[in-house]
Amino acid sequence: NESIEFISIQEQLDQFVLDAKKNTTSGATASYIPALKKANPEHLGICLISSQGTFLKSGDTDHCFTLQSISKVFSFIFACHTRGIDEVLQYVDVEPTGDAFNSIFRLELSHPGRPFNPMINAGAITVASLLPGHSPLDKVEALLSFFEKMIGRKPSINMDVFHSEWQTANRNRALAYWLKETGFLLGGVEDAMEVYLKLCSIEVNIVELAQMGLILAHDGLHPYTNEQIFSMEIASLAKTLMLTCGMYDYSGRFAAFVGIPAKSGVSGGIMAAIPPSARVTNNRFACWGVGLYGPAIDKHGNSTAGVALLKRLSQEWDLRLI
Ligand code: GLU
Repeated sequence: NESIEFISIQEQLDQFVLDAKKNTTSGATASYIPALKKANPEHLGICLISSQGTFLKSGDTDHCFTLQSISKVFSFIFACHTRGIDEVLQYVDVEPTGDAFNSIFRLELSHPGRPFNPMINAGAITVASLLPGHSPLDKVEALLSFFEKMIGRKPSINMDVFHSEWQTANRNRALAYWLKETGFLLGGVEDAMEVYLKLCSIEVNIVELAQMGLILAHDGLHPYTNEQIFSMEIASLAKTLMLTCGMYDYSGRFAAFVGIPAKSGVSGGIMAAIPPSARVTNNRFACWGVGLYGPAIDKHGNSTAGVALLKRLSQEWDLRLI
């Protein structure tokens, strides 16, 4: 009867995806990065993988897309993994702001200038500068190898997206110069920008994104290779940041109405980590990783159809953490 249960879950998921697709029309592809604007706004695809091997996919599942802000979770995790949490927290706080992802104004207010959290651009640019390695290339390579441990291949960087961002990154450069001025950026501004924007341009698919979410849900332990990729303490900190700051200035409402740690990017990707108590199946011990892609985004930067789909899944399958 496990297969009967599986079929009905798959059928439910297909229906939820069809229903959620209606929300693609209320969003639009990110226009401030020219290469992202070209995506098809009607796409929506999702993948869920459990720690016990259940694999579900539905919708438009074959596309590659860039991580954008989802990379912020892993650059933070990798910085903590290599430098230790205490050192990283000297450079970046863990306090939500409720401001837009690229907001600049609070940086001057926060004495002595420490960015509020690693999920906003200011914090993520600082974290990019903390990664191990001398050159931007070394830092990016080190993180790509870290990804390889999670998804079984070294992901590539979409250079079209990178160049597009590099040429339009005035606001991010302004943040980086401010961070340099206040001592919260190591090395040069242009080097940090190169690392940060290349990490945003890492390309994955929804299956890989779900695998990454699963490792987070599983407290840093890869459920299939059995390798502890990062510590439980780091996983817990990262998931807390996802829950409090992962969905831009919609994070509070997402936590209230969906209730699972998730991180989105302006490409329309969302990664979520579902804890073991969720009732996706009768098996209460499995945890789940979710990867989804729906490039039409709302004014906050979140996939419109993706948020609708996660809300529905959370209600119907009782996924809430709290
Ligand atoms: N590369 C983007 C930027 O810094 C990341 C945006 C995002 O996904 O939030 O503008």
